[in-house]
Amino acid sequence: MKDTITHHTPDALLAAYAAGSLPHPYALVVATHVSLCLECRAAYEAHQALGGVVLDAVQSAPVSDGLKADVLALIELPDPAPARPRRLGPLPGPVVEALGGKPPKWSTLGKGIRQCIVSESRSGSVRLLSIPPGQAVPDHGHRGMELTLVLQGSFSDETGRFGVGDLEVADEELEHTPIADAGETCICLAATDAPLRFSALVPRLLQRLFRI
Ligand code: ZN
Ligand code: ZN
Repeated sequence: MKDTITHHTPDALLAAYAAGSLPHPYALVVATHVSLCLECRAAYEAHQALGGVVLDAVQSAPVSDGLKADVLALIELPDPAPARPRRLGPLPGPVVEALGGKPPKWSTLGKGIRQCIVSESRSGSVRLLSIPPGQAVPDHGHRGMELTLVLQGSFSDETGRFGVGDLEVADEELEHTPIADAGETCICLAATDAPLRFSALVPRLLQRLFRI
């Protein structure tokens, strides 16, 4: 990985993902970040191990003397390395798996911006966005939480610069205009639990047409 990841998955999201309580759209983005980031993978595995131990402890109270050793043993377990789907160009394995192993089917949103809806359900949606260098995603706010993970290129907005592997967490408070940096086309994986709230009328019409 040529870029260094500087924006990581917040610990609360990793804990929720490890506990299996994260809605599917967010879980896919977190799984993809974890597949790219050693630091978050280690934190995720620690959450998984500790979650298991806490469950065991609850079921067999009082807590045994060996609990501490058990925790350490679990944390130090080698990664069983399950068969992971292979990456496809800039798309990491979890995204390829979510696409059923097929290349993305892009649709055009105008100004060279393209999207591919990876999944859509009541719990929200996950899409791939492809943004040409220098192009802005229309200024928008959020009704719920939006997770955006960069898979190729980079973008910048009011909060900073996001390169490959970086995860941006945007909530109701944030109104931002992500702009793809010069260089490569920026490809992102974005999950939302509610339709985005665009500020201008034309994008709002586009939103109705393209369900973004
Ligand atoms: Zn990370
Ligand atoms: Zn946003």
